[in-house]
This record gives sequence, C-alpha cells and structure tokens, in this order.
Amino acid sequence: MGLVISPLIALMQDQVDALVQNGVAAAFYNSTLDSRQKNEIRRQAQQGELDLLYVAPETLNSPGFRDFIEDLPLALIAVDEAHCVSQWGHDFRPEYLQITHLRDHFSSAPLLALTATADPQTQKEIRERLGLTQEPVFSSSFDRPNIRYQITVKDAGREQLLDFIRANHSGQAGIVYVLSRTNTEEIAAWLSQKGVTALPYHAGLEPDLRRKHQARFLREDGMVMVATIAFGMGIDKPNVRFVAHLGIPKSVEAYYQETGRAGRDGEPASAWMAYSLDDVVKLRRMIEGGEGAEAFKRLGGQKLNAMLGLCETVNCRRQSLLSYFGEDHNGNCAGCDNCLQPPKTWDATIAAQKALSAVYRTGQRFGAGHVIDVLLGKETEKGIQNSHNKLSVFGVGKELEKRQWDSVFRQLVAADYLEVDLEGYGTFKLNPKSWAVLKEGQKVWLREDPPARKIEKTSRRDKSTPREPVVLDGQEATLFEALRSLRAQLANEQNLPAYVVFHDSALREMVAQRPKTLTEFARIPGVGETKLKRYGEAFLEVLRRA
Ligand code: ZN
Repeated sequence: MGLVISPLIALMQDQVDALVQNGVAAAFYNSTLDSRQKNEIRRQAQQGELDLLYVAPETLNSPGFRDFIEDLPLALIAVDEAHCVSQWGHDFRPEYLQITHLRDHFSSAPLLALTATADPQTQKEIRERLGLTQEPVFSSSFDRPNIRYQITVKDAGREQLLDFIRANHSGQAGIVYVLSRTNTEEIAAWLSQKGVTALPYHAGLEPDLRRKHQARFLREDGMVMVATIAFGMGIDKPNVRFVAHLGIPKSVEAYYQETGRAGRDGEPASAWMAYSLDDVVKLRRMIEGGEGAEAFKRLGGQKLNAMLGLCETVNCRRQSLLSYFGEDHNGNCAGCDNCLQPPKTWDATIAAQKALSAVYRTGQRFGAGHVIDVLLGKETEKGIQNSHNKLSVFGVGKELEKRQWDSVFRQLVAADYLEVDLEGYGTFKLNPKSWAVLKEGQKVWLREDPPARKIEKTSRRDKSTPREPVVLDGQEATLFEALRSLRAQLANEQNLPAYVVFHDSALREMVAQRPKTLTEFARIPGVGETKLKRYGEAFLEVLRRA
C-alpha cells in the first residue's frame, strides 16, 4: 500500500472516487470520517486490501494513526503539493512541517515528493526538509507552449475584461481571478448581464452554494468562474480556455500556478492580466506593512518585485517566466504580447527626475494623484492649502498627459525607483535608487503603454444593455419558469443538456426585454441564427402569452 499525503481534504473524496473508477483500491483517512469508518479503513489496510491511502498532513501525528501505520509494510510514501513544506515557497502550510520526520520513521519505504510549482530555492528547501538531499530529481519543463501570455495596463478593468472575452473566448470556459470577495460577486453579475455566463466563487460563500458553483463550472460548457484565489487547487478541467487576472498575483509562482489551469488539454489557451499602480500600492502595503516577522515581509516584497518585473518587462514574457523557475528559453516565443507586438520604450530619465523631485518637494507625504496634479500645474484645494502651487516643480510636467504620468509612477514603483511609504496611505518616499536618478543622472527607460481603451460605442452588434442584476419576482418569476420548462422540454426531446438550448442568462434577458417578434428575439444575447430558426417561434409563443 502506498501512503499519499495531500493537503486537499475537500478534494480527497473526488481523487479517491476517480481512482476507484479506474480500478485502484484507494481510500482516504481524515477528520471527516467517524470512528466506525476509520476502523473500517484500518481493517482494510491491515488485511492488505488497499493500494493507496490518502491522508492529510495533520493526520500523521494524530494519536493512534502513527501506531496503526507504523506496523504496515508501506510500499511508497508520496508527498503531494510538496512545495507546501517550504517557507520560501508561495504556499507554505505549517501543518506540512509535521511530515518532515517521515524519513526517520519510515526509513524502509521509498519517499517521493511531487510539485508543479517550485523555483530553485523552493526545490532546495523541499529536499532539505524531507531529507531527500542525495536522491535524484526528475524535472520536466515548466513551459506551457499552448498558453499565450498577455499583461496589460488596467484603465477600465471589467470593460477590458469583457472586450478580451468577447474578442477571444466568447462562449468558452474561463477563470477570472479578482482580489476581493465582493469583486467576485459584482463582476460575475455584471458579466452575466453582458451575456457572459458567470458565477462567483470565494471562501465566504455558503459551502452548498460553493459546491454547486464548482460543479456547474466543471460540468457545463462555457462557464466563467469569477473567483478569489480560494478557487482552483486540484481543479482539473481540461478545456479551460482562459485565465484572466484583474489585479496582480502576489508572486510569480502564484501567477504560474493560476494561469496553468488554462489549456490542460493542450489546445490554445490564454493567460490575460490587467493591473494598475493602485494594485501595486495595495499589495505592497498588504505584504510589507502587515503583521508578521520581518524576514517574511522581506520575502513577500522580493516575490512581489519578481512578479512586477514580469509585468513590466519589454522582453519575452515566457523567457522571463521560465527563467524565474531556473529554465533557459531563447525568447521570441511568438506566444506572448511582447513577442507578438514588441513594446516601444522611451528614455524617461527627465520625466523620472521630475516625478521623483515632485515627490520630494511635496514632502514625501502624498500619493500619485496629488503629485501628478502638481506636475500638471493644476490648482487644487489640496495644492493651495499646502502652497504646492508655489513650488518650482508646479506645472513642470505639462508635456505628458495624466495617464502617461500614471504610467511613469507605476513603472517607477514597479522597478523600485520609488518606494511605497508603509506609514502613509498610498504615499511615496524616495530611496537610494531614486537619488541615483536625481543626483547622478542614472538613465531610466520605460515602456510605452498602449493607448487608452476607446469608449465603447453601442453598435448594432452589441446586444446588451447595462442593467442592475435582475431579481425576478411575481409575474417575472412565473414567466422565467415557463421559459425554463420549455427549454427543458426542448432539451429532453434532443437528449441535450438544458444549457445547450439557452443559458439561464438568455432566459433572464427574454424576461427583461419581452421580445414580441423574431427580429426582437434575435437581439437577446445567446440567440444566434440557428437558435433563432430552431427555437424562436416556440419561445415567442410563451412570451406573447405572458
Ligand atoms: Zn514571448
């Protein structure tokens, strides 16, 4: 029997079910079992009826388990998600420290550690902690050639996301990572209104609802999950076509792991991200200004810097990403935005000097918004109160627009030419690197941001209208149910899942818009030519009766 140590109690059931389906005698042993069930598993193990036994790391030291397991002839000990044992890694779990003595207790069984995301330093720590320093390492490439990487500047967040989905992945399954629980719900509702079937997922949802959303994402086609990072570990849906980030992950490992959920079937997939100066400031404050030991904060800061480096690089992103994991790639991957459309760079030394100087002259007490107002020579209340309109730097930056200054500040912070002051709220202070630019004229080259997103025009093709989330009641709910039962009937006749006929969002739009003619019906998102012909009249009949 092999023993598998896995951190995912929530997924053990699924993993074991899948193995049993494949004819492997597998079981799990964890805190979700009652004592009768535990006794049964022990009996099976002792009688040699099991091939694999899954346990959580904290179970290893639980009273009784050690005694039970020590007498068994283990054929293998496998530590899954082994990077969780590393304090250097991005996903450290204290309970994993309980497995560091495995080697002493089970010296005769072979020990295997497995991970899909570990930079060289994390790999080293895994080996040391698990006593595997002399043993061979099997490492395959980190490259995911079918994933196209794109990182862009956030100016209109969710609209950019919608543009990206509509242009590249309309009707396909994807995951959107956002930074807060509230965001997951808002953005999922908003996308649904726009005709993209989306559900929220975060750790604060009712467990039943969370499971339901996860199950729908796995089973249905074209579902978009808008989630916090609580979603995804152990999710193995092969046809996720895109992973989008609105906001910046805390580390390159997290980015790699999250984007790695796209395109597991090997078909083309996208990793898309939009981020802003605001995200950087928030994340820096959270990581470096939070509670906890200095060493951890410093580590968090370094990891964020590496992630920012990946965001701001003008070179091949795949090359940067792989080099983070200690792998060489010669660039020109033809599968990242920088290779497909090489960004322009500009000598921003003078702009950087003006920006840094304005931060200094205003007393290192303000955030980008106010400092940019000063550079642009804007007479604001704050400026006048602080006599900033009298400063030598007042109005010296009129050659650039506000959004260009935003870009300068973002890149200065990303490249550590300007420091986020952890005492103030989103305020900046200078550091030795800033002074090298100001005093020694050190050159600063920055990338040119793409032009701002054009304001969306309502065109004939854009069938959606902005609307508050639809809450159905009374008459509307009755109509919705009537449409649903028609959909079920049509689906049954053809032996199809209901969503293949129409998504719920399309039915909701029908309730909201009440189309009376085929032309009006054609404007409902999700109604294409074929569906119009096939289902139009039947649905209109129900709608006309309402
Ligand atoms: Zn590239």
